[in-house]
Amino acid sequence: MRAGEFELINKIRRRASVGPEIRLGIGDDCSSIVVPPNYELLTSTDLLLEGVHFCLDWTDLYSLGIKSVAVNISDLAAMGAKPVSLHLAVGLPASFSDEQVEQFLNGVFAGLERYEVTLAGGDTSRSVGPLVISVTVQGFCHKDQVITRGGAGVGDDLWVSGTLGDSGLALHFLQSNRPLSAFLAARHYRPEARAVLGQRLAIENLATAMLDLSDGLSGDLRHLLNASAVGARVELERLPLSNEFKDELQMDQSLLDLALCGGEDYELLFTAKPKMRDSLEQLSVAINLPLCRIGEVTSTPELSLVMANGLIYQPRSSAFDHFGSTKDRSRE
Ligand code: ADP
Ligand code: MG
Repeated sequence: MRAGEFELINKIRRRASVGPEIRLGIGDDCSSIVVPPNYELLTSTDLLLEGVHFCLDWTDLYSLGIKSVAVNISDLAAMGAKPVSLHLAVGLPASFSDEQVEQFLNGVFAGLERYEVTLAGGDTSRSVGPLVISVTVQGFCHKDQVITRGGAGVGDDLWVSGTLGDSGLALHFLQSNRPLSAFLAARHYRPEARAVLGQRLAIENLATAMLDLSDGLSGDLRHLLNASAVGARVELERLPLSNEFKDELQMDQSLLDLALCGGEDYELLFTAKPKMRDSLEQLSVAINLPLCRIGEVTSTPELSLVMANGLIYQPRSSAFDHFGSTKDRSRE
């Protein structure tokens, strides 16, 4: 038997820290956040449904808790905002034990600590069906520093953080019943939101447009290009790939599609003026996160994926179909 909902909310409330920006947190009908002068409040919501976005046979509840926070923080990072508050709405299956709820919450609180964000409210209910998680995050960004998808200009460089395709490769392994290395498991089950990078790019005015990669480089890049009414040329040999990914790619060239169309990388893709190259390389060193220049923005409104031999590459699918698109995707 699980503790009553009120008891659970009280438990959550006792664990929640309260940051200075939160005038009212858990306990009243609304939370209230004080926005500093000249700052904007940015808000994003993600829904995570068991059976649609994740599968409890494959993920543990602690990792799911952390990931529920991280994928939302990633959206704030993608606009350059500093995470401030998080609201958590959950529909808990009646079959869940107190221990299972605890494991999930332990993951959520680990994520909150990791990104220094306050749990300021939410909603708690029983679910007669699957586990339902809805997370809303809010963050601050100076009104002149918000980085949208729409600011890319012709001639800008195209940059991406970290490495691409690791999470997609992990899913590919799971499908084939192959064990995951610690590296691939971490990339898949506990992705890191690039919160510091996003904020530094905004504060230092280094990027012209940005988004986070949740559905694969080629699809997500198209969103940015459409919003900016430009095209891009990506040089495939420049794509940042982990050693583990490269090893697999050597044995099976078709895995390249995972780096282009595999989901859940949660890296940041951004455009920047060529004069910012030195500053971006310095930033990469300062925050200890690889930043890779993979191409440039063009005036012709299409996306060209160019191979080392100069020919244009066509991925087999524009959105890599991991699982008939149902299992273990945290984001749509
Ligand atoms: P109401 O009936 O007004 O929605 P609730 O009893 O649902 O109030 O919630 C009481 C307080 O607890 C509110 O401040 C709400 O934001 C907070 N809360 C409820 N569920 C959660 C949760 N899962 N995580 C964080 N805060 C929660
Ligand atoms: Mg409520």
